[in-house]
Amino acid sequence: MDESRKTGQWFSEVSKETCPGQSFSLEMDDVLDQRKSKYQDILLFQSRTYGKVLVLDGMIQVTERDEFAYQEMMVHMPMFSHPNPQKVLIVGGGDGGILREVVKHDCVQSVVQCEIDEEVINVSRKFLPSLSSAFEHPKFKLHIGDGFEFLKNHQGEFDVIITDSSDPVGPAEGLFGAAYYQLLKNALRTGGIVCSQGESIWLHLDFIKRLMNSCRELFPVVDYASISIPSYPCGQIGAILCGLNPQTNFRSALRAPDEHTGSTWNLRYYTPRVHSTACILPLFAEKELFS
Ligand code: SAM
Repeated sequence: MDESRKTGQWFSEVSKETCPGQSFSLEMDDVLDQRKSKYQDILLFQSRTYGKVLVLDGMIQVTERDEFAYQEMMVHMPMFSHPNPQKVLIVGGGDGGILREVVKHDCVQSVVQCEIDEEVINVSRKFLPSLSSAFEHPKFKLHIGDGFEFLKNHQGEFDVIITDSSDPVGPAEGLFGAAYYQLLKNALRTGGIVCSQGESIWLHLDFIKRLMNSCRELFPVVDYASISIPSYPCGQIGAILCGLNPQTNFRSALRAPDEHTGSTWNLRYYTPRVHSTACILPLFAEKELFS
């Protein structure tokens, strides 16, 4: 069990499983909500310098200050790597940030979200309006349940599936294995793309390598994009990208936000150049993941 704790005015993230021997701390001004759902401990606090922060089972999920980095890359890399993504599935993503970015794409006809814990959505709706703004979107449909189970009943339905899950401990454990990626593959339409939260090259390189090798058994194109984000362990997290179309290339966007959308989308991290360089990794990671 994580020993993350709130000491005095500080929240410290401690997890033997996810980031052994290190900890990231944020100065706290106020605890705004704290509850135990059926699946996890939920904490929402006002930090001194990172805005509001959502924590699940002792692990930081989003902060208002830097969440845009992760949400924009996890959405716009797969979406702009696909010629015309109309049907989108989000697994997890209870804070709403992924959904907020998906609905910016006019080509999207429908987006379904399968989130196991409705309490996370409730907390985000109440305290994180900048993340949960799209839960009322007309193209959106919410399903409360386990993503693993949901996918078993959906074949050949989606152009893009984004798995925005917590770490592979607790309810999200099943979302990081080969069986899950087989279900993802089955749920895609021709030429479909998946993008999953891919952990950190500084902490989980062996895990990422094993997962990518499993994906290579299923998909002709597999890549890993790196995202710089201070509030995740080591300040870096990745997206594991898989494509059914052998022509898919995650290192060169097929499409880009045009003049108009670019200005209305309020992007602060994603650009076509960031997209095309995100999969270029430091040598130690490149050697481990691609040799
Ligand atoms: N961006 C964060 C990260 O990278 O760690 C994740 C944010 S989001 C809050 C993670 C969500 O995954 C949570 O709302 C959690 O309830 C959900 N989740 C965990 N396991 C799940 C499962 N098996 N099926 C569906 N949702 C799941």
